[in-house]
Amino acid sequence: MKLRGRTYVPDPQPLPPGGGRSVSPAELNERRRRLEREFAELQFDLGGLAYEMAIRDHFRVDLLVRHAARLQALDAELGAVERLARMDEGGAAGTCPNCDALYPRGAAFCSQCAHPLMR
Ligand SMILES: [Zn+2]
Repeated sequence: MKLRGRTYVPDPQPLPPGGGRSVSPAELNERRRRLEREFAELQFDLGGLAYEMAIRDHFRVDLLVRHAARLQALDAELGAVERLARMDEGGAAGTCPNCDALYPRGAAFCSQCAHPLMR
């Protein structure tokens, strides 16, 4: 993009070790918002599911447990993103080149898929 006759070139983002893509604080925020939305929806669904079962007096505990497990996984991911957002001021976080999970600077392996992040 041209800016007052000069070509505007943004500073290159330093890549985190391991070949992952670096993540900006704005992207981290966006991820957090998306996860919060997903979490709220899933929680709402779980409530609805429990209600439907209650009025039919027929509980499928396996369904509830499966749903709760998804909610728990989402909660853990949200916790990780929030931790990263707190410690990350300036792109210290990266995403795993294998599974796109977030990782903090200095991580040796991806916590989701165990992909090595250090070279
Ligand atoms: Zn991974």
